[in-house]
Parts: sequence; structure tokens; C-alpha cells
Amino acid sequence: MTRPRQLFVTTALPYANGAFHIGHIMEYIQADIWVRYQRMRGQQVHFVGADDAHGAPIMIAAEKVGKTPQQFVAEIAAGRKQYLDGFHIAFDHWHSTDAPENHELAQDIYRALRREGLIAIRNIEQFFDPVKSMFLPDRYIKGECPRCAAKDQYGDSCEVCGAVYAPTELKNPYSTLTGATPVMKSSEHHFFQLSSPRCLDFLQQWTQASGRLQPEVLNKIKEWFAADDEGHVGLSDWDISRDAPYFGIEIPDAPGKYFYVWLDAPVGYLASLKAWFDRGGPKARYGEERSFEEFMTDPAVEQYHFIGKDITYFHTLFWPAMLHFSGRKVPDNVFVHGFITVSGEKMSKSRGTGISPLKYLEIGMNAEWLRYYIAAKLNARVEDVDFNPEDFVARVNSDLVGKYVNIASRAAGFIAKRFDGLLSADLGVEGSALLEGLRAGCADIERLYEEREFGKAVREIMALADRVNAYVDQHKPWDLAKKPEMAAALHDVCSTCIEAFRLLTIYLKPVLPALAAQVEEFLQVEPLTFADAQRALGAHRIGAYKHLMQRVDPKLLDTLFEPPAAAAAPAAEDKPELPGGEAIAPTIGIEDFTKIDLRIARIVEARRVEGSTKLLQLTLDVGEGRTRNVFSGIQSAYAPEQLVGKLTVMVANLAPRKMKFGVSEGMVLAASHGDEKAQPGIHILEPWPGAQPGMRVR
Ligand SMILES: [Zn+2]
Repeated sequence: MTRPRQLFVTTALPYANGAFHIGHIMEYIQADIWVRYQRMRGQQVHFVGADDAHGAPIMIAAEKVGKTPQQFVAEIAAGRKQYLDGFHIAFDHWHSTDAPENHELAQDIYRALRREGLIAIRNIEQFFDPVKSMFLPDRYIKGECPRCAAKDQYGDSCEVCGAVYAPTELKNPYSTLTGATPVMKSSEHHFFQLSSPRCLDFLQQWTQASGRLQPEVLNKIKEWFAADDEGHVGLSDWDISRDAPYFGIEIPDAPGKYFYVWLDAPVGYLASLKAWFDRGGPKARYGEERSFEEFMTDPAVEQYHFIGKDITYFHTLFWPAMLHFSGRKVPDNVFVHGFITVSGEKMSKSRGTGISPLKYLEIGMNAEWLRYYIAAKLNARVEDVDFNPEDFVARVNSDLVGKYVNIASRAAGFIAKRFDGLLSADLGVEGSALLEGLRAGCADIERLYEEREFGKAVREIMALADRVNAYVDQHKPWDLAKKPEMAAALHDVCSTCIEAFRLLTIYLKPVLPALAAQVEEFLQVEPLTFADAQRALGAHRIGAYKHLMQRVDPKLLDTLFEPPAAAAAPAAEDKPELPGGEAIAPTIGIEDFTKIDLRIARIVEARRVEGSTKLLQLTLDVGEGRTRNVFSGIQSAYAPEQLVGKLTVMVANLAPRKMKFGVSEGMVLAASHGDEKAQPGIHILEPWPGAQPGMRVR
């Protein structure tokens, strides 16, 4: 027998300044499915997480509410369990980067890097908020990206082009704490010398190891390694220190200096694993006798990190280099996923998306609906996953419940009533062939789980469920049940269905652990593993069937997306108020404006569009001697009869656009808040009296 693989698996550490949002839950579900799959294969997995507790934002947030940072992060940590349990995320251990293990490990790693000659100390000029009297943390400086000129970018990296830079490179910087223009002040800083040829050589070799990183990640890294405009090849040194006051880990032999939070955050992976070992978890679970330190020197141990695409730089460059040059094991791989969008809208960092994971649970939605839906949409690429409410209802109701759960409900009653719960051992030619086909699919499904191609795995499993349903429709147990002479056939068909259902349950168990536990009880079997797919139940007695899963009531989705009451709306955090919910767009010249031909238009006719809940179809007259057809997403705000005869403003030179319902020849102007979910309402423009159709607006 081969020795089980030994896997050390983490998800990115959530910053402990707020509750989990749906993006966190998606990542945990992705990692949890992979971990559960590995465990069902008999592998030994250590799956840990932790709160990322340090840094100025937490220090400042705690100060605002009159708490110590330690109290502040402890309260956040206390709220984690309800989410993790609620969504069946099977972390072995959850820790904090402020725990003693992390202080010790981060300082050890730093000392090792210093011994290697990779730490430099330099005086640097840094932004200082003259109003608040403190050096400004990166996150509290915003300005324009030095590379792509995107506005309102943070001081450490650009969300638009992905560039990483020093805050002093920002153009037109401002302090987001006070709005003041920061002044420059000198301070001594510690640097990790990533620019050294040794680092570059190592990272070239680590990142380009065959089959390691995803192709999109590798492409991004090639960009980062490429020469910049001034011909510098490779990486810049990384500023790893911050001045007091700071909530973090003290740098050894450097009073008043702390590690930048990004230095100690990934070390938290190791700290959490160490805590899990020190508490005896691996010994109790797997009879592991080794200490954390011994375990981590075993070359057979595999280390994997699941992360979002926004933190690729830290995890594929800084982190492996820190580990390698401090003489530690480096990650075997970093699995990068995209973001979650809701109905195509990108989520905002401060607001999350329209989906609150806690509300999802509180209104009684089944966590496994979401696990199944997310699994069905995930692949091994760095692609965004879109949550679409209609698609969600369809996939859960027609696939999960309609195709899979129904197989059991169609067969179980007959087995209980007619055969005293006993399955038939001899399933006939057709039944055996069906099951053989289902078993033959196992290897492919296992491979797809291993490769994190969960969407493909789910599709294969549902294709197998289709075969089972075709078999049921062909053999019609409800007809067989009416004919006493067909009892043996009824027994075989229903036993085949139950066995098929058991196989499908094995295949879906990484995604649906709670449902699988109910099935195990119903079937009266031990916890199912992938090895069980190659065995048959035979003449086995099953338990009573209880309804396994409800269909989604689409009304629940409406409740889920209801905007929160004003009092419950999230605080504006530490960001300055944005006019109308979004920042003013980049400056343009008058020549840009004059390209847009705005005209007064009369609304001649307005009507609802069959099949659309958003659009009104408008007939507009802009004095051209003909009318124009325009579709406008204002159905929620206006009844057609309110609009007829009114004047408004339209973009008259917009290229015609072919839509599902016809061609739209322009666009009417309307005002709305940047966050339409939180502040709904659309307001179309109407000119003052005297304006005539066809007049230009300038
Ligand atoms: Zn940029």
C-alpha cells in the first residue's frame, strides 16, 4: 500500500477588520472541496486558517471605537465560527497572526534573512500626516497610479493594472485619514533585498518549475520580471518595516520598528500549523508523532495555498523567497482564483457584494446550495465567478434536486414498503451495466477534483445522473409496482437506483458533505470514501428515507438581495465620502466632451418590453424628421404613461447597439447613486421650459 500524501493546505488569511464577505466564503468553499476530496482519497491533510490581525488599519479602527487592537481582533475572531460551521468549512485549526507562535516565527525568519545578508537598512523619505502626526501607512495614502494613472489607488498597489510600488511614487497623494497633503519625513527602514541576483535566480527557478503555476499567473510574473521603462530588470527591494505607533511584531534589535503586516501575515500559515501540531491535532487524527518543525523538514510534505488574484505578487514572489532564504520549505504551489461577481457586477472591497453570507444563512438558505453552485462554476483558471440569481435557482432545482436527490426519493419508498428495506444483490444485466458505467466514471471525476476543475467534475456527475434517470424512466418502477408478478423486477430496478444514488453521493460528497452524511445514515453505511465506489452494497438493509433537500424558493433570493435597512448599512469605514457614491472620473479636455453629441429629445411613445423586467422601449424625436428607437433600463422607476410627451436629453451620436429586443439608437441620460443596491432610484433628466427637440446640449 502506498503511503498517504501529506498535505499542508491554507486559504488566504482574512484581514481582521470586518466580517467575512462572500469572496472569502467562495475561496473557503473552493479549498474545502479540494481538502475533502483529498481526505476521501485517504490522504493526510492539515488544513488551517487564521486572522490577519496586524497593521495600521486595525490599529486605527480599534482606536476609533475605544478598544485595544487585541480586543478588537478578538471580537472579530469570535464571529468567524458561525460562518465556517454554517458553510461546512472543515479547517482543522483557526489561529491569529498576533499569537505568540507568529511573533516567534516571523522574528526567526527575519533573523535568518539577516544572516543571509539579505536585509538592508536605509533611510527613506516617507509620507507623514502633519494633522495626525504619524507616518502614513500605505493604505491611508491614495493618489494616481504611477504606471497607469488610475485615480484613487492605494499606496502599495494598483487595483487597475496590478502594479506594486512605494507610496511615494503615487501622483497627487492625499491622506485618507485627514484629507491633508502628506509631507515627506525621513526614517530608517528595513528592506528585504529582492533585487539581489540570488533572489532573482531562485524566483526564476521556482516560478518556472514545470506544471507549477497557472498559465495566467506565470504571464503576470513574466511582466513583473520584465524590464521597466528605465531598463531595470527584476524586482525592487521590499520595505518590510514600519515605525511606531504600529500594531504588529517588533523587529529584533530595532526599537520602535515593526514588521510591515505583509511580512508577518503569510508567516501566519506556519503559525497556525504549528499551533495545530502543538495542540496534538495531527497526533490524534493520524497518529503523527513528529513535531511541527520535524514535519516541515520532510521533503514529502506538500504545501499549497489557495489565494485570490489580488495577492498573487505577495504569494508567488515575496513568500517563496522569504521561506527559501530562511532555510525553510517552499510552497509546492499557489492556487489562484478570480473574484466573485454578482449578476456581472464587480464586488467592492469596502461593501462586499450584494450577498451577505450571514444573511444567506439567517434567512434559511441551505449552505450546500451555494457550495454546489460555486463548485459548478469553478475551474482551475484565474477566472471570475458570477453569481446569477436565476442561474442559481435553475442549477439547484433542476440539477441538484431534480436530477440527483430525486433518484433516491423515487426508489426508496418501494424498497422500504415492499422489500422491508433490503436491497437486491442481483441487479440484472441492464442494472449492472448502468452501475458499471457509473463506476467507470470515477477515475475521471477524481482527476478533475485533483486538478480543481470542479465545474467539469459536476458536469460529469450530472451526466451520470442523467443516465440513471433515463434508466428509471425506461423501467418505470411505479408501473412495475402495480403488477404483483413484476415484484422481482421492481426490486432490481429500485436496488439499482439506490446503488447508483450511493455512487453519485460519493462523487458529490466533497461538495455536499452534510447531505452525504444524511445519505450515509439513510443507507446505513460508514462514511463514504472514493474507494467505496468500487464496492457494491449487495444484499444490504437500508434505513428509512427522509426528505434530503428542499428546492430553492426564488423568493428567498429576493430577500437575500433586499437592501439593508439604513441603520444596518455598513459604516463608511475610513474612506472620505464619495459624491453620489462614486469618485469623479479622470479629467478630460473640452475636445473629449464635444465628441459626445447630446440633444433634447421628445418622448413620443413609451412601452414595456415583453420579457424584460428592466427595459422600457422609447420612441424619441430629436427633430430629424424621423423617430429613434431607444431601450432604456428605467422600468423600475417610471411607468410608460408618465413619460409620454416629456422632453429629455439623449446621446444622439452613440453607435447603434443590437440588443436582444431590437436595435437601440442612442441613450437617454439619467442620474443614479453609484451603489444602486444600497440607494436605489433612477432619475431621468428634463430640460427647463423652452428647450425644443433637436437642440444640442453643450
Ligand atoms: Zn495602475
